[in-house]
This record gives sequence, structure tokens and C-alpha cells, in this order.
Amino acid sequence: MLSLPLLFSLRRGWRAPHTRRFASFWVIFLVASGGLTAYRAISYEITGKAIYSTSRFSHEEVTRQSSPTNFRRATNMAWGWTGFCFLSAVIYMRKGSGGAHKNVVKVASEYSEEELARFREVFAPQATRYRRYARRSHVLFAIFGAIALIVAYLAATHFPNALVDWVCGLLVLGYLAMIGYSWRSQPLLECPGCQNRLDSGAFGRHCPQCGSPQFVPGGWLGSPKCTVCSETMHRGYKIRACTHCGVMLHERGIWSSSSF
Ligand SMILES: [Zn+2]
Ligand SMILES: [Zn+2]
Repeated sequence: MLSLPLLFSLRRGWRAPHTRRFASFWVIFLVASGGLTAYRAISYEITGKAIYSTSRFSHEEVTRQSSPTNFRRATNMAWGWTGFCFLSAVIYMRKGSGGAHKNVVKVASEYSEEELARFREVFAPQATRYRRYARRSHVLFAIFGAIALIVAYLAATHFPNALVDWVCGLLVLGYLAMIGYSWRSQPLLECPGCQNRLDSGAFGRHCPQCGSPQFVPGGWLGSPKCTVCSETMHRGYKIRACTHCGVMLHERGIWSSSSF
């Protein structure tokens, strides 16, 4: 259970989730799960009775009097999971909200060739920094995932129970620290034309792959579609143009966060 959000974020990319939709579903799930465990933890504390699980399939009821250590353990686990869920929910909520975008004063067709070339020039070093950051974070998360798996396996087979709690706690802290770090060190990816963020996961009126205004951003359930390059962006897509003003910024493109 503990590894679920970890695996999810490894698969999905931990930065801006590819749509707000994904972030909102995730927040709802985390809040629901956190709420349920909070309820369980409180009822353990009040009744003095807890369900202590020794493995996935064996659960026993323990009371505060009969086995205080196991009771504390089960209750602390419930509190810990509650905290983890709510903290992650807050993180995803902030990522999903993306920030309001600025008004687009001019679109691509209204700029001169020189201005467009200038934008590409300004954008190039930003793109390089961003790619480097993406690669570095990817490697970092892969290493952390591998360590977490090995430690979890060792903990389950070789460590005494008291140590397992500490190991789990440390892994969760490490995981949160890592999200925090990758969040803080994320370089800016901003359109030099309209100053809007390109990696927020939000779509504007232009296709991020070809810059064409023949673009349907899609609603809550439909995927965004472009009739010019006829690409559906339900999985990954490359950011080549600004989705808000349509200015072509990078010929090779930068993978959107959903796909790496
Ligand atoms: Zn723009
Ligand atoms: Zn297109």
C-alpha cells in the first residue's frame, strides 16, 4: 500500500501531471484514503482496540491493555498513512492548480520573422536546461525506487518489526524530500512571446506540437486533438510551440511531463 503512490509517481513523472484531470482524481483518492485512515486511527484511540496486521492476510484484534506494543504500532501506522495521504494530496493539489495564465496579446501570425527567430534564440538555453533537469530527476527517481524496493524486501524478510517501522518512515520522508527537491529545482519553461508557462499541463488555443490554431483542447473526458498534425495527445506529446500564442519555439521539441 505504501509503495502505491511511489510507483505511480515514478511511472507518471512527478512534476506537473499531464492533465489537471489526473491530478484531481489523485487528490480525490488521497483525500478519501487519508480520511478513512484518520477515522480508523481516531476510533482506535477512542475504543482502545486496533486491528494489527502481521501480513497481508492475517489480522488480529489487539487492545491497548492486552498488547500495548502492537496496539501502538497499528495505531501509529494509521496516523502515519493519514499524514502521508494528506501531505501528498496538498502537493498534487498545488501542482494541479497550475496557476492562471496571462492574457495573450499577440499570436504567432502577428509577429515578424525576426521576432520569431529571436524567440527561438531566447528559448534554446531554457530548453537545454529543462531537458537536463528532466534527465537528472529521472535517474534520481529510478535510483530511489530501486533502493526502496531492495530495502522493502530486506525489511520484510530480515528485519525485526520495530526496525521496519523506522525504515518505512525513512522511506516516506525520503520520498517527500525528493518531490520537494525536484519541485524546487525545476527550471522555468516559459514562452518568450506571451510569458505563459509551457509545462503546466494546461492547453491553450494552439497545438503544442505544430502551433496551429486548429486545436481542440478537449474537455474533462476527451483528449486534446489537432486537425492539422492529426495527433491525439492522450499520452505523451512534444512541446514545440506555445499552446497559448502558437509561436514555434523548439524544432526538436521537449517531451511533456506525462511521457517520461
Ligand atoms: Zn506563448
Ligand atoms: Zn498540431
